Parts: sequence; structure tokens; C-alpha cells
Amino acid sequence: MEGLSSLSKIQSALAKHDPKITLSEIVDHYLERIDQNSDLNAFVEVFADEARAEALHIQQKINSGTAGRLAGMVIGIKDNICYKDHHVSACSRILENYISPFSATVVERLLAEDAIIIGRLNCDEFAMGASNESSFYGPVKNYADKTKVSGGSSGGAAVAVQAGLCLAALGTDTGGSVRQPASFCGVVGLKPTYGRVSRHGIISYASSFDQVGPITNCVEDASILLEIIAGSDQYDSTASSKAVPHINLAEQPDSKKKIAYLSEALHSEGLDPEVKQEFEKSIEALRSAGHTLEPVSFDLLEYVVPTYYILTMAEASSNLARYDGVHYGYRSKRAIDLESTYKTSRSEGFGPEVKRRIVLGTFVLSAGYYDAYYAKAQRVRRMIRDKTNEILKQYDFILLPTAPTPAFTIGEGSDDPVVNYLADIFTVQASLAGIPAISVPAGRTKAGLPVGMQLLGKRFEEAELLKFSQNFIKLLDPV
Ligand code: GLN
Repeated sequence: MEGLSSLSKIQSALAKHDPKITLSEIVDHYLERIDQNSDLNAFVEVFADEARAEALHIQQKINSGTAGRLAGMVIGIKDNICYKDHHVSACSRILENYISPFSATVVERLLAEDAIIIGRLNCDEFAMGASNESSFYGPVKNYADKTKVSGGSSGGAAVAVQAGLCLAALGTDTGGSVRQPASFCGVVGLKPTYGRVSRHGIISYASSFDQVGPITNCVEDASILLEIIAGSDQYDSTASSKAVPHINLAEQPDSKKKIAYLSEALHSEGLDPEVKQEFEKSIEALRSAGHTLEPVSFDLLEYVVPTYYILTMAEASSNLARYDGVHYGYRSKRAIDLESTYKTSRSEGFGPEVKRRIVLGTFVLSAGYYDAYYAKAQRVRRMIRDKTNEILKQYDFILLPTAPTPAFTIGEGSDDPVVNYLADIFTVQASLAGIPAISVPAGRTKAGLPVGMQLLGKRFEEAELLKFSQNFIKLLDPV
């Protein structure tokens, strides 16, 4: 099974008859890896029997030449993506034992192309966090160093791919949750343009930010997955009807690119020296390859984190109002009437970080504070978006580290939530602006921890972003 690290490699192995490999063997291989590595805590549920049955079914289609484009892909889904007749919990007690009556559009699209969904992946509770430590099921361990966090909120997704427990995973990215764990785990993570991928069947955190994105070993698999999950959807009016282009990575434009890097990022106080070094190395590698790299000032950088948190907490407080102890999942045993059902179920069902955000979100939306916080943050969001788009009018991409630090030790995040929120400084700009961004593995620290670099692209120009990223990875790690 060694070397089968991309879909095209798996598909060509499946197509060759010598040596013969079957889809059942591939599924068994991953199930065994999941079992051997259960201490990583990446999966909250494994669909072992179903995956085995699907392998037989899809193998027949492969044999008869009728298989879909994802035949051979074994994929995990973050536990906030609904899959019909399967549990989904957003890693929260409040959704304990909840079974989804329908599938997310992204899941339908994976299945229609014969992907095999192997299980549900651990994440921060309601995708709120950046270390996977707020999950009801506990933290996920980083495969590069099991004392370190996986990153979050799609921590299980990133570690599952990093540790070879499945070929790829779908995560969600509201403010960095695909890109940052990908960076901590040395894999590829893509956040598409807001509206590129349907959010139907995704458990909402902050609806004007949430996007589903692939986490993969390579840019090639991210491209294939994007092509398949993207596109308009009758169930989500925010999903764009813009045509989804076929992304041919072999078609590399030889034109040299103009890339901006943000001066404020390079000189940012919290930037770890080893990450800074990787950032500078990336700038130099791109320059040596003939691209134009210029420092650009983005004086709004200090506002991105507060703006992001005011808006996402406001949206979360509204989205999470539906978990009332009546409609879904968990109900407290102390519930005796309607009001106590709400109060006790929500008090016991939500973890501390989610509660903090609901309370703060309710506060910023309340009469008397709405203008000072929510309305102002909306205006600042527009300024951030406009300024980012202005930069992208003059440059093809923006280069940034994905996160200011490598993975930190489990349990050693700060007790001060603001310090934790500030660690999102480089990922939330793309989220506020609604533009696509990708994290690619750039190098490792002396201690062997992965460091990711991020490229931000123009709205709906994922194809350009992916093609360039493919080149970028080669420059960073010439073979
Ligand atoms: N860390 C950010 C937050 O806690 C991003 C989370 C996400 O993208 N889901 O909100």
C-alpha cells in the first residue's frame, strides 16, 4: 500500500492487474491503520462494515467500467457534515445520539462519484476552536508528535490524512479550520471561495463564513475534490451558480506571477522565529524562480481577529438557538417544564467555549450594543474585504504563513481566550473577505513539526490558486 498517496496512484493500481490490488484491500488497509492508531483520537466513529460492503460494490463497477470519478477514494468527513441515517454531533454533547435524516449536498456528491466514506472525524465543538481541545470527545494527537495538538477545528480530518488513516477528508473552514490543522499536520488544506460549495447539511457555526474544504496529501486530490463538491445547489441559495472549471494541474502557465506578502505579517509580534524563517525561505524560493514578490502594507491586520470574532459569535448565537433540548439530541434529566428544559439542556449540553461564544454573541447583538459592536464590525469587514481585493487587483496572490506558530503542546493553550483567538490572525483575513486560500506544507521546525504556508487568491479563481500551489510545493521541496 506504500506509495498510494493520491487518488490517481490508487486508480492506476486498481486498473493494473499485476500486481493486483482490490478496493477491499485498500479499505482493509485503512481500517487496520485506524485501529492501530486509535490513540490519535482522529475518528469519533468508523463505518467499517459499510465501507467494506461499498468496496465490493464499487469494485464491481470498476470491473465493468462504470465507476465514478472518485472510485478508489476512501474519505473521512468532519463530524459537522450530515450523512443520512448516520450520527452527527459536531462533537458536542448537545447532539448526543442525534441521527441525521438527510445527507449534506457535499456527501451526496461524493457518493455519486463512488467515494467511500469511512467515518466521522473529531473536531472542536461546533467547529469553535483551533486545537481540537474543545471537542466533547477530547483532543486529537498530532501524528508528528503525539504530545502536540492537531490544530483545529478540523483536527481529526488533518490527522487522519497525515497518519494515512484515509486518503482524504472533508473539513469545514469558518476562520481557518481547514488550513490551520493542515499546516500543523503537514498536509494540504483548501478553503474555497465563500459560495463555491453548498453549505446544505453542514451544521452551521457562522453562516456568512462557513465553507467546506478538502484536506489531502496533495494539490491534485484537493483539485478533484473541489471540482466534485463545488457548484450551485437548489438547497443553498448562497451556493454560486458560477461554472466550476475543470482544474488541469498539468497545464501550468509559464507566466511569472506577482505576489504580495504582508509586511505587518512578517513583523508580527507573535510570529514564531522558525515560522518566520520558513516564510522568508518561501519568499526567496519564489523570487529565485522568477516571480515578483513585494511587501505590501495591510494596516487592517490588527482588526481582523476582533472583527472576525464579533461577527462569528453573533452568527453562532443565532445558529445555536435551535439546540433547545426539544428538537435535537440531548435533553437534561433535570428538565421539568419548558423553561427548565431549555436552561438545563443547554447548560449541560454545551461546553464552556461554545457557551462563551453564545453569551458574547448575544451581547454584541443586544439593543444598546448592536451599533457599537455588530454594526461596526460589519463595516470593518467591508473595509478588510475591499482592501484585500484592492491588493488582489495588483497582485495574483497574497502569501502568508498559515499560523503564527507550529503545533503547541496539548493542554498548553492559553487560559486567556483572547490569546487563543489571536492565533487565527493569518487565516481570518481570507474568511472575512470570502476569498479562496490554501495551506501547503512548507517545511519543518528543528523539532520536526510541520509548518504550512498560505496563498490567498481571487474570488472564484481556485483553479489558478491550485495550479500555482502545485508549483509552489515543488519549489519548496525540489525532488
Ligand atoms: N479558530 C477559529 C474559531 O475558533 C476558526 C474555526 C473554524 O474555522 N471553524 O472560530
